[in-house]
Amino acid sequence: MTTTSSARSLGADRAAELAALVTAAAHRERRANHCPFDGSLIGEVPVCTADDVAAAVARARTAQRAWAARPMRERTAVARRYHDLVLERQDGLLDLIQLESGKSRASAHEEVSDLAATAMYYARTAAIHLRSRWREGAVPLLTTTVVHHHPKGVVGVISPWNYPLTLATSDAVAALLAGNAVVLKPDRQTPFTALAAVELLFQAGLPRDLFHVVTGEGPVLGPSLIGAVDFLMFTGSTATGRIIAEQCGRRLIGFSAELGGKNPMVVLADADVEAAARHAVHACFSNSGQLCISIERIYVEDAVYDQFASAFAAHVRAMKLAPGLTWDADMGSMVSEAQLEVVGRHVGDAVAKGARVLAGGRARPDLGPLFFEPTALEGVTDEMEVAHAETFGPVVSLYRVRDEAEAIARANDSEYGLNAAIWSTPRHGSELARRLAVGTANVNEGFAAAWGSFDAPMGGWKASGVGRRHGREGIVKYTETQTVAVQRVMPIRAPHGVDAERWADLMSLGLKVLRYRPRNALLKATGGLPVRERR
Ligand code: NAD
Repeated sequence: MTTTSSARSLGADRAAELAALVTAAAHRERRANHCPFDGSLIGEVPVCTADDVAAAVARARTAQRAWAARPMRERTAVARRYHDLVLERQDGLLDLIQLESGKSRASAHEEVSDLAATAMYYARTAAIHLRSRWREGAVPLLTTTVVHHHPKGVVGVISPWNYPLTLATSDAVAALLAGNAVVLKPDRQTPFTALAAVELLFQAGLPRDLFHVVTGEGPVLGPSLIGAVDFLMFTGSTATGRIIAEQCGRRLIGFSAELGGKNPMVVLADADVEAAARHAVHACFSNSGQLCISIERIYVEDAVYDQFASAFAAHVRAMKLAPGLTWDADMGSMVSEAQLEVVGRHVGDAVAKGARVLAGGRARPDLGPLFFEPTALEGVTDEMEVAHAETFGPVVSLYRVRDEAEAIARANDSEYGLNAAIWSTPRHGSELARRLAVGTANVNEGFAAAWGSFDAPMGGWKASGVGRRHGREGIVKYTETQTVAVQRVMPIRAPHGVDAERWADLMSLGLKVLRYRPRNALLKATGGLPVRERR
């Protein structure tokens, strides 16, 4: 494990240019941000107040009306240009992501790819997902029913520090294409990356007032944001998700929450064990394990446990840990003292209670103030904190299990249900995956196969979330549906001259007959026939 040259800095002028994109009154106090690699100053952003949030939402609300009136093709053109700009400017984005989060360049690149791919996915599909559709009417032939999607209005986005680029704007792109305005509150540890992501949206042609960024403390700005917006998209911890859910509930606004996980991997005896051990390294330690869908528990069938454990431990020991803006590190730094503290506490508690360290296990202040080695543990028992609590760091526990039934039962024994992985044959693995209580399950991959399937919904069961991102679900949630039903020939009530009892008999007879009406295959498959666009 070696050290490379220290980080390039953002530069005071560039920091000021990005900070100027924050919607804040001129005299606001400012907060400095520092690089996790070496503690050097990145820049300062305003500490926004409730007044700034109110101003941001008011301006966004005015801009939203004109935006919603623009044809979908004009909105999707912005997302296409955004995709191109994110890829063209990736070098600067990668530098900034690394400077603010301390992650490796390869992990930073996952963000760039994710943002570009999500923007292009919704540019290509928003019109299809949001098209008005015919639905089956109340009375065949007499009622024609159409469902329309209208934008919610202003969408609030509260994003975390771990994927500061993509989680700041990829959910927002879907909201924008659905005709909404957005007010974003990024995590206080990574405002500059979020601002750079938003700057590119403006350069892609997004009207300036349609997207506002407020920077500052979540518990201070969160209530005023939730108090003013029409929908909230939250990504962060389960603890904060519960607070936000209460606040949204009081206002009766919709929300979507992507929360924590304690994600399991199952390795069965019929798996390619060497491949599983090699790929598990990425599944566990991508972004220094500070990834909601990364693996923190591995259940291995008895017959192949020893082979897997020794191959995996060897791969973990061979990982290169380093700071700096180069491609050669397998893993970077932790983001903060708080994260480092949790990782050290989980490992220390496990070891004190009898767990064995197969690889790693130590902080590495020689590399930087916030470095911790990728760590594999075995002999973890239920009374250890690491067994059930989310570490959100580079720590994974290996468990020997008798058979697949025990593996599935233990994988499901968690308050969380975000992501899981199974290593087996494709057929056996995909059958077993359906028995896992999780929102995404990957067969012979850690997390990227399901996450990168942008046309499919992504999100958690149980304490891992409410709502979904990606796919149809990830854009329809930013709309209000409206059902317009037109009744022809006769109303759905007793015609003049027919008494109530006779009409009730006729209605009952009609329901019995309707039971045998043919199912329209297309209606069944698509959830509705598309209505021809008027413009
Ligand atoms: P966090 O909940 O502390 O912070 C996330 C965001 O919420 C930040 O912007 C923060 O400022 C804001 N916030 C904090 N308290 C708030 C409050 N009372 N009201 C309003 N906003 C508030 O989360 P974190 O610890 O910084 O992030 C890591 C967590 O996020 C982990 O649990 C991880 O699993 C989860 N996460 C989930 C996903 C997912 O897609 N499921 C993705 C990334 C991270």
